[in-house]
Amino acid sequence: MAADQPTPLFERIALIGIGLIGSSLAHVARRDGLCNHIAVSARTQRTLDTARRLGLADSVTLDAAEAAAGADLVMICTPMGAYEAVARAIAPVLKPGCIVSDVGSVKQSVIRDVGPRLPEDVHLVPAHPVAGTEHSGPEAGFPELFQGRWCILTPAEGTEPDAVERIAELWRRAGMTIEIMDANHHDRVLAITSHLPHLIAYTIVGTATDLAENLKQEVVKYSAGGFRDFTRIAASDPVMWRDIFLANREAILELLGQFSEDLTALRRAIRRGEGDILMDVFTHTREIRRGVVEAEQD
Ligand code: NAP
Repeated sequence: MAADQPTPLFERIALIGIGLIGSSLAHVARRDGLCNHIAVSARTQRTLDTARRLGLADSVTLDAAEAAAGADLVMICTPMGAYEAVARAIAPVLKPGCIVSDVGSVKQSVIRDVGPRLPEDVHLVPAHPVAGTEHSGPEAGFPELFQGRWCILTPAEGTEPDAVERIAELWRRAGMTIEIMDANHHDRVLAITSHLPHLIAYTIVGTATDLAENLKQEVVKYSAGGFRDFTRIAASDPVMWRDIFLANREAILELLGQFSEDLTALRRAIRRGEGDILMDVFTHTREIRRGVVEAEQD
């Protein structure tokens, strides 16, 4: 740690899972001296070896409980389908006063899958750093990933304020702006801003791959017309996204109902040649894009 760095926020951080998000956080922790020891656990030895080689871990283990033992922060950074098993594994070894947090893209399921398994003297502070790329694994991480982005915390009512503040400070040091939100509200907002766009991308790219062979080649050749952007989104990790859709199924299904109605309305306007309706919709959506750019989220 450099002499001018602030005091560490934690003594020992356990990262359970060290892919894109976990490794990016480890880079930040190293860069800014956020803790004195990073204990890493993953599913495969290969990932642990890579984390070591990149200098992101002080200790590595395939056993999540071994990493979590003695930690004052356990950060779950696995796909969401693994959360319940991770919570069961670490619960018996957590030290009193320890904070358990996570980076998952759905938040109600964390409270449901992890919360009930933790001892009473441990604080659960679910978090979602809203930043990412389509790449995964420990080599994909970089410390600037979180810079200028939002981190949404969804602590249950009655959570120890000091624990919430420590997690907020961790993500602030990573360059993020903190928003505290109800978990249910988070899941509905993210269903619109992230989950539905991914589902649409997966669908479009899937439809294109079903096309006849000669047409498929041209789809790739002329992909700069818009298709290319969907292929980038649809290249995101399949396990992670399977888990997100299953974890947030209610909000996504509700939204899909509305989306199907809007799509049907556009289809009807095209069939009837109602250009004014198309103009209204497209003009409105252009304004939304301007808002995104103005908020520096483009
Ligand atoms: P990732 O790059 O695929 O890495 C996942 C990590 O979890 C790997 O280290 C993997 O170990 C480990 N893991 C997988 N299954 C496990 C299990 N059953 N037990 C223990 N460890 C396990 O994933 P990521 O992109 O960092 O995403 C992690 C979390 O962040 C997800 O919950 C996701 O919702 C959330 N998130 C992602 C993004 C994004 O854009 N990627 C953005 C915001 C939030 P091995 O390599 O050994 O298999």
